[in-house]
Amino acid sequence: MLIAYEEFARRADAIRARIAAACAPAGRDPATVQLLAVTKTHPAAAADYAARYGLRGVGENRVQEGIEKRAQIAAASSGLRWELIGHLQSNKAKLAARHFDRIQSADSPKLLVHLDRAAAEVGRALPVLLQINAGDDPAKFGADPADAPALLEAALAQKNLRVDGLMTIAPLGATPAETAAHAERTFANLRRLRDELATRFGTPLPELSMGMTGDLALAVAAGSTMVRVGTALFGAR
Ligand SMILES: *Cc1c(COP(=O)(O)O)cnc(C)c1O
Repeated sequence: MLIAYEEFARRADAIRARIAAACAPAGRDPATVQLLAVTKTHPAAAADYAARYGLRGVGENRVQEGIEKRAQIAAASSGLRWELIGHLQSNKAKLAARHFDRIQSADSPKLLVHLDRAAAEVGRALPVLLQINAGDDPAKFGADPADAPALLEAALAQKNLRVDGLMTIAPLGATPAETAAHAERTFANLRRLRDELATRFGTPLPELSMGMTGDLALAVAAGSTMVRVGTALFGAR
């Protein structure tokens, strides 16, 4: 069951206030943090809510689910950007490149090659983020931070890809305090890695996609430019 639009708008207002509150002590402009509505498991109308509220994009973690919803949204929502935030297998790279505006989960040289080939077929430059396991979480996808330079080198070598930046998911802890500590460490690691890679490769990597419902304030404090929020916008899945 999808909540009413009015309830969604109240929740989105509250999240924007949380983003602004986290920006203030860091001296950041809240306009530099985009709120990506994570619509996975919710109906296509959830994406229509995001568009109606004025959000620029939605995140889906499964290729097929995203494609089906994108085909169902209202005409007024056609300007929404669809971003893939879930693990992508190479055999689905072609579909993903055709139907998503950006792939946030590029995590291996092999996948980059497949995405590049698919982007060439579609005839456009495909924006990607490199997903890094910056919290060293054994349960999470994403490249090992030590492999990030090689991954970026592989990405920059692909003619049909545009590398916008990095993405990560922080590991959960056994307690809220432990989860917060993991998040702080993970986000600081990703930020530092981005700064190092940008300098070393002479490429800006402006996008830092980090922070979800539970840890978005910590992510913004650490420099996030995009928080990916599902639960706080649409309720529990
Ligand atoms: C589901 C998901 C989110 C949103 O998580 P919430 O805790 O519901 O805000 C963000 N990022 C990724 C990669 C996800 O899979």
